[in-house]
Amino acid sequence: MRVPVIAGNWKLFKTIAESVALVHELAPLVASSHGVEIVVAPVFTALSKVSDAIEGSNIRLAAQDCFWEEEGAFTGEVAPKLLKDAGCSHVIIGHSERRQFFAETDITVNRKAKAAISTGLRAIVCVGESLAERESGLTFSVIETQIQGSLAGLTVEDFTNTVVAYEPVWAIGTGKTASDAQAQEVHLFIRKLIAKLFGQSVADAVRILYGGSVKPDNVKGLMGQPDIDGALVGGASLKADSFAAIVTFNS
Ligand code: PEP
Repeated sequence: MRVPVIAGNWKLFKTIAESVALVHELAPLVASSHGVEIVVAPVFTALSKVSDAIEGSNIRLAAQDCFWEEEGAFTGEVAPKLLKDAGCSHVIIGHSERRQFFAETDITVNRKAKAAISTGLRAIVCVGESLAERESGLTFSVIETQIQGSLAGLTVEDFTNTVVAYEPVWAIGTGKTASDAQAQEVHLFIRKLIAKLFGQSVADAVRILYGGSVKPDNVKGLMGQPDIDGALVGGASLKADSFAAIVTFNS
């Protein structure tokens, strides 16, 4: 049984006070949700205060990015061990916005994932095709390249702390969700590819999240697909009631 992960990516939204207020509102709404890994990813500056605010709750903390070195002359970067120090258990790596606006590549995603995992963080590694790539029939080859590059060299043990997020770029923040069948098709492809590259037991255990305009009214259909093990949620994670409705999709 793969425990579902529902992760909220708050992107560049909310002050420290707003972030703390959001988890204070969220915590009681999801307190009785068992058998689901609940994660929120505020901006870096709010991590530490949100960590204090979620203490004793079933909400876990993620950063939205990390660097691969532990320390040094790397102005502006944040190391995985500092994220742990701030209270993180998870980190999102290779989100399409980082790939698009900050020159993230499969090589940098791979270095970051390895550094995060070896520090004991759970890496949520994102992949996904653009609209032009989908319309040109390139979805599977793009996903294959991204999975091969982003997860290169991970060991079977590393996979216990690796989560994959399939996020079609055309569905992120656009209100366009992949249909249940479109998402399932790519998730199955990713699972089979992971089986080929890393072995069937890794593929059977790895959680593959869907991301792209997940909302309370479409989460149930997506989560009903056999290879969809959770959701990475942007816009709908910014309000406690909509994120809680996604977390409690099964009740
Ligand atoms: C995301 O930020 O990863 C995302 C999927 O955003 P949204 O849910 O707003 O499409």
